[in-house]
Amino acid sequence: MIHDIVVIGGGPGGYATAFRAHARGLDVALVERAEIGGTCLHRGCIPSKATLHVAEVLEEVHRADVLGLKLTYDGIDGDGLEAFRRGVISGLHKGLVALTEQRTTLHRGHGRVVRDGAGAPRARGDSGLVVEVTGDDDEVTTVRGRHVVLATGSVARSIPGVEIDGEVVQTSDQALWFTTPPRRAVIVGGGAIGVEFATMWAPMGTEVTIVEALDRLLPLEDADSSKLLQRAFTRRGIDVHTGARVEAVTRDGDGATVEVSVGDDRRVLEADRVLIATGRGPRTDDTGVAELGVLDERGFVVTDAFGATELDGLWAVGDVRPTLALAHAAFAEGFVVADRIAGVEDVQPVDHVHTPRVTYSHPEVASVGLTEVEARERFGDDGVAVASVSFRGNAKGIIAGSDGTVKVVHATGGAAAAAPGVGFDPTGRAAGPVLGVHIVGPHATDLIGGATLATSWEALPVELAAITHAHPSLEEALGEAFQVAAGVPFHAH
Ligand code: FAD
Repeated sequence: MIHDIVVIGGGPGGYATAFRAHARGLDVALVERAEIGGTCLHRGCIPSKATLHVAEVLEEVHRADVLGLKLTYDGIDGDGLEAFRRGVISGLHKGLVALTEQRTTLHRGHGRVVRDGAGAPRARGDSGLVVEVTGDDDEVTTVRGRHVVLATGSVARSIPGVEIDGEVVQTSDQALWFTTPPRRAVIVGGGAIGVEFATMWAPMGTEVTIVEALDRLLPLEDADSSKLLQRAFTRRGIDVHTGARVEAVTRDGDGATVEVSVGDDRRVLEADRVLIATGRGPRTDDTGVAELGVLDERGFVVTDAFGATELDGLWAVGDVRPTLALAHAAFAEGFVVADRIAGVEDVQPVDHVHTPRVTYSHPEVASVGLTEVEARERFGDDGVAVASVSFRGNAKGIIAGSDGTVKVVHATGGAAAAAPGVGFDPTGRAAGPVLGVHIVGPHATDLIGGATLATSWEALPVELAAITHAHPSLEEALGEAFQVAAGVPFHAH
């Protein structure tokens, strides 16, 4: 039997491809060697967000006096924490497995894509590729498909010379499952995963130090977002070393020492937990794709914008591609690949610039579109303007006890000047389309949804300023930032 598609990997990229292909009427086989749901459901997005929710509740408990509540906090019940997280994952997992079984032929085992050696005459449209699936019993089954989609995800990367022992020196795979928070933690890497762990541990009483090689936390975000986050972290007692290189990590009994250099300065940090959060790399080992010659020098699968490799019938989605390593980017890539294979007309590639980037730190950081620096590089200083509004003036922000800002980066002049309504801009500088939105503050990862519509539709501030938001709501901060950009500030000045 030849399936229309064989997908290798049942994480967000793989199951999104499979489910969309099923919705398009295609016959799909899915190969998964571990658990459906992948990194995201079992070792990433979901367990981390469940733990972050616990930390958020704890933050509220710590400011109970401000809220007029008399609460006492007796510490963490490790078993309860474990049960809560496992419960969240298990409910989602069961649902996902049921959907996968309904919509695909599920093969349990390790998948490897190879050229069909049988030399049998190929049916029309057959890629000539087959997937060999090795089950737990070492039995190999050959699964045939007209198309093969690689969705094998990524693995945590370490740094040269640092050995992950899994107990004291850990990656997020192990560190997530703590039931007793560490007393002193050094987090190597100030990207999304590193700052999320700092956010989890700090309210639980852990002394947290972050060591980041570049000059700021979240180096891919707008520089102002990094600055705000670092300021908020420092206020909450999280020690942040930027421009800092880890020279050595040495295990020392139940703990470890981390030697760090910042310029000529050397520092020795002691910890009972060292989290290596220096990024993730593509997982393609023993998948056959290296032999097929479709990897770049860093090991990512090379595809066109639609996810097709150079080999007829071989596609890739998700973290194996050098695009945004986020679950929703993997979903989007899966939908595009399935639609292309199904022959849907006018499929557009995933627009990664207008894909939201989200970090569930406290405060949360989210963005979409261009940073201010990217916009200025592209359109010149005169072609770009910025409008910012603080959550300090937002009623719900004040109630939530958090501050932060919404920053809107937009074009000036050009075609936008002729747009209806722009005439009332008192600055005389017509506000062109919104190019980027950068939010630091409460529920930024939810608020970015509205901003995504704005940047994707290249909306003008004047159009967005006319939209009514509920009062009081956090969304009002977004609305007010668009009003500032349109030259009609409300509370902001
Ligand atoms: P994966 O989810 O890694 O799935 C790959 C699947 O392929 C796995 O199930 C694996 O078992 C299977 N597989 C691998 N090789 C084979 C083989 N040869 N044969 C058969 N099966 C195979 N993203 C967000 O958008 N939001 C977040 O909040 C977020 N938080 C994160 C927190 C952490 C701690 C981490 C580590 C990641 C987080 N991510 C988050 C990133 C997100 O998890 C990934 O971008 C996403 O899981 C990528 O999906 P994928 O399908 O490409 O790969």
